[in-house]
Amino acid sequence: MTHPTSSGPRHAILREVGLRDGLQSVATIVPTAAKLQWIRDAYDAGEREIEVGSFVPPRLLPQLADTAEVLAFAQTLPGLKASVLVPNLKGAERAIECKAEAMLLPLSASYKHSLANLRKTPEEVVADIARIRDARDAMGAKTKIEIGISTAFGCTIQGDVPEDEVVRLVKAVLDEGVDAVGLADTVGYADPAQVKRLYEKVLRVAGDKLDCAHFHDTRGLGLANCFAAWEMGIRRFDASIAGIGGCPHAPGASGNVAMEDAAYMFASMGVDTGLDFDRLIALRGRVGQWLQGEALHGNVWRAGLPKTMKKEAEHA
Ligand code: ZN
Repeated sequence: MTHPTSSGPRHAILREVGLRDGLQSVATIVPTAAKLQWIRDAYDAGEREIEVGSFVPPRLLPQLADTAEVLAFAQTLPGLKASVLVPNLKGAERAIECKAEAMLLPLSASYKHSLANLRKTPEEVVADIARIRDARDAMGAKTKIEIGISTAFGCTIQGDVPEDEVVRLVKAVLDEGVDAVGLADTVGYADPAQVKRLYEKVLRVAGDKLDCAHFHDTRGLGLANCFAAWEMGIRRFDASIAGIGGCPHAPGASGNVAMEDAAYMFASMGVDTGLDFDRLIALRGRVGQWLQGEALHGNVWRAGLPKTMKKEAEHA
């Protein structure tokens, strides 16, 4: 099976990660009821993939302590693919028990980041992933295992992350039978030329199992990097409403690519995302109320859609 190229399908999936990647990086604890409304509104705006939280110990991330409840609600919405992040086997077992459609496991391509964050080498994380796959299969569960290769484009601790190391780790997890792999620019170091180069290399070993791009807009290149990945044939992108999130090591840094800006970019290119721009902007306003005092990001909300595409968007 060949991977779609830029001449392939003209539709893209934007997965909302604000409830996980966004909320884990801000101090405010959003009440569960607000999270459920957030998911409902995102769903009504056309979102069909949402990362709803993370099964980590609540003492580490009290913001995400209600993940099981939030996931249960997301599972009531027809056609919504709800995923959770899991850092280890214990978290994976909870995701499986809760019948999550997919669980995302981070694997840091930076040796030093891996040690600092998880106190494990990348090799040890690959071994954990194999155990998680065994546990899933032994339970006869259908939860998909998706690996996010974090710090794939550089690391705040280690600096350069060799491209060959990213390729090697992707091969290693595919050999362990994972379902999908994505590349993540965890710290906002990537540039579009690098994105094209690394996706090309990884696509050679992963084919259509490499199906996601996760960029942070820390230095303003988030959308440019999404476009570069799109050009390489990638059709799934992580984004968060209002670009919420950040980085504890970089005060003031933006979070993920803003969902509404990504929706605008793809719509302006004639790419169907199934998203309703006005509803996304309305949701953005509510998220701003739930996150009083936290920094919001993104650009399009200020000026709205240009006159030249307003009609099309209304018809979409
Ligand atoms: Zn991230």
